[in-house]
Amino acid sequence: MKPAAVAVIGGGVMGASAADHLAARGRRDIVILDRAEGPGAGSTGRATGGYRAQYGTPINVRLSLLARDKLLRFEEETGVEPGYLRSGYLWLAVNQAELAALDAGRRVQHAEGLLEAASVTPGEIARLNPAIRLEGIVGGAYCPTDGFIRPLGILEGYLASAARLGVRVEWGVEVTGLRRADDGRITEVGTSRGPIAVETVVNAAGPWAAAVGEMAAIALPVTPLRRQIAATAPCDLLPADMPMTIWAGDGFHLRVRDGRVLLLWPTPGAPGRPFDASVDPAWIDAVTAMAHARVPVLRKAVVDRASCWAGLYEMSPDKHAILGAGSECSNLYFINGASGHGVMHAPALGHLLAEIICDGRATTLDVRCLDPGRFARGQLNVAGEVL
Ligand SMILES: Cc1cc2nc3c(=O)[nH]c(=O)nc-3n(C[C@H](O)[C@H](O)[C@H](O)COP(=O)(O)OP(=O)(O)OC[C@H]3O[C@@H](n4cnc5c(N)ncnc54)[C@H](O)[C@@H]3O)c2cc1C
Repeated sequence: MKPAAVAVIGGGVMGASAADHLAARGRRDIVILDRAEGPGAGSTGRATGGYRAQYGTPINVRLSLLARDKLLRFEEETGVEPGYLRSGYLWLAVNQAELAALDAGRRVQHAEGLLEAASVTPGEIARLNPAIRLEGIVGGAYCPTDGFIRPLGILEGYLASAARLGVRVEWGVEVTGLRRADDGRITEVGTSRGPIAVETVVNAAGPWAAAVGEMAAIALPVTPLRRQIAATAPCDLLPADMPMTIWAGDGFHLRVRDGRVLLLWPTPGAPGRPFDASVDPAWIDAVTAMAHARVPVLRKAVVDRASCWAGLYEMSPDKHAILGAGSECSNLYFINGASGHGVMHAPALGHLLAEIICDGRATTLDVRCLDPGRFARGQLNVAGEVL
């Protein structure tokens, strides 16, 4: 295959954003390689489309705010509407410890300038989402500028913009190996269609990123974690602009999308089958029972089993993204491990990675706490979030 200045492994939202931002910075001869036959086959196509800045660490709030700025300009810059809807994220606490954790998060958010994030009383919760059974709820947190985005729209926008800037996308090409020279740098990407001589490689392989790291004999601590979604049959039991509503203790949450109510509840994944993305029927029964207890109107809804789906989060050990090159290999860059926040953070992470590659460091934000070496140094970010 033709040599490339930059090979981006993975054409999900991360790879597309990285490639587009690199091309916008003037990099030429960029190729995206993806083994899927077309866009959206990985995690990006499975995402529910939540956007929030209500996080508990400064870096995640900053990434969300940078992403929000970029989402507001997204259509102008890429030609595709990202579907950013300010429907809010409403967190519910059932005890004082959960409330204290939400309060601690809000102090971080306010310090980062997210002043619209507020605590809410049970009475305010009833106004924001009247469908919730209030019994046992002691309070919560709400941010009106959180809400929803369209994962496939964002992917489409970055791919279209990148293509206009000359980025090539090769679908149906599996990356099978990375050849390193004596100085440690990668010189060649092995693919199912033959080798490609390269100067720079970006690992954007989502939940499969660790396997790409292994090809260069680099241990990248990204692990898949199954997330399942139960979808009701189309119904009008809840309003389309209902806030994403999340129980802070166990992470059960729901939203309305395309006329269906989507129910989510994080569980540990299929034991012994980390890449299994099938839906467990017992999980559907359990999440449906939770929905009936917490949102009584949903007792009238029918869960449409054929429309339920699952996908894989790309977890890092501290649930924060891994961004930049490691010390072992100076021309292999990571944009991985966003831990289930990747669609909303891709606009920011792609922008920042382009700065790292083009300028040697990110300047828009200080992202040293996301560097790949932090795990070996024992400098993990501390995230108390359930999601
Ligand atoms: C159920 C669910 C709900 C989610 N909800 C949200 C949400 O509300 N908001 C949010 O921000 N995020 C959400 N996420 C997380 C989000 O989907 C991910 O963080 C994001 O899509 C990661 O993007 P990516 O480009 O890294 O990965 P992917 O989209 O998985 O792309 C990786 C690509 O790499 C390719 N690839 C892998 N290995 C190779 C190889 N060897 N050779 C060639 N190609 C390869 C794959 O084919 C794939 O296309 C959700 C995820 C799931 C599963």
